[in-house]
Amino acid sequence: MTFTLIFLLGLALSVATRYYLASRHMRHIALHRDQVPAEFASKVTITDHHKAADYTMTKLRLGLFEIALSVAILIGFTLLGGLQQLHNFTLDLLGPGIPQQMALLVSISLITGIIDLPFSWHRQFGIEEKFGFNRMTLALFFADMLKGILLGLAIGLPLLWVVLTLMTEAGQYWWVWTWFVWVGFNALLLWLFPTFIAPLFNKFKPLEDGPLKDRIEDLLKRCDFTSQGLFIMDGSKRSAHGNAYFTGMGKAKRIVFFDTLIERLNPQEIEAVLAHELGHFKRQHIRKRLIQSFALSFLVLALLGWISTKAWFYLSLGITPDMNGYNAGLALALFSLVLPVFGFFLTPINSMGSRKHEYEADAFAAEKSSANDLITALVKLYQDNAATLTPDPLYSKFYDSHPPAPLRIAHLQSMAVR
Ligand SMILES: [Zn+2]
Repeated sequence: MTFTLIFLLGLALSVATRYYLASRHMRHIALHRDQVPAEFASKVTITDHHKAADYTMTKLRLGLFEIALSVAILIGFTLLGGLQQLHNFTLDLLGPGIPQQMALLVSISLITGIIDLPFSWHRQFGIEEKFGFNRMTLALFFADMLKGILLGLAIGLPLLWVVLTLMTEAGQYWWVWTWFVWVGFNALLLWLFPTFIAPLFNKFKPLEDGPLKDRIEDLLKRCDFTSQGLFIMDGSKRSAHGNAYFTGMGKAKRIVFFDTLIERLNPQEIEAVLAHELGHFKRQHIRKRLIQSFALSFLVLALLGWISTKAWFYLSLGITPDMNGYNAGLALALFSLVLPVFGFFLTPINSMGSRKHEYEADAFAAEKSSANDLITALVKLYQDNAATLTPDPLYSKFYDSHPPAPLRIAHLQSMAVR
């Protein structure tokens, strides 16, 4: 069983890498806990620095526990026969066919969702609460969960039905058709998200007329950017963390500010943050990311198309396939359980590309707005998010989608007009 060995080796290597990087990160943060880095000394207090260190460590420790648990779940589903039993159980209940395969996939997400529940609970009402970031009530937590499940069913079930039908009926190249469906589905989501989905969870109100709005409209004009409106979102009902983002596509682009961001930053700083976000758009980052993700999903589906016809794929992972019958659900379940083990090793490539984009967007903001305003905004955001200013360099290279704070600030300072 060569593939069993490859799977176990990949799993061991990915877990060892995660633990190694996390332990380096923890050691580095502990080592620098007692001193604010020189370049931040005038802006960040030692109390805030301690808080950032403790917050990061707490989240890392929970993360390590979750890694161990996810390994146990993965082995349980595969080599220990959990998926096979679930398959047999749904088969006894429903008989072979697409409904059985849908039931199989739904029960897997049900099981992993139930296992994950105490963790999301602890993250929100344990960690976030302890560090003063939680603004969520119990009622909101459960309302969000219920809406999430209903939305997942409303969107996920029809999609799943289409994919399973294609896998079963569309012949050898089902995966090409599935790719077209996937691309169309994502385009639909881009349109549905700002107009129908996001308003289910948050209230959006247009930014009021005033100095801030004038400032932002000036910036948009300077950057030659047309948008379908500026909105403020009530992010404060869940968390004290602040943010701003773009949503929608084409003419329907919207700019959304969290109310927490508006409260915390002054108008110049908000302008600089928005200029950074516009940089992502103007430098084609959003389009490039989208194309990359479609190319990647094409490759992943091609891989699934090939590997799902190989009996060894199932047999070496503790499953007895039905190669001539309804096998699509089993293939999809097994593939989506196993793929992340190997996909993990692509993390640093993805992080590197993302950090390059962050530098480019910062340069855009420095040009169209002000590097100094972006610096003061970032320092406030690091403080408010209790983000560590002293990440381990290797950990940061592997995981971080944004450059580590000292490098990012230094890059901005090099562009600042004095
Ligand atoms: Zn960015």
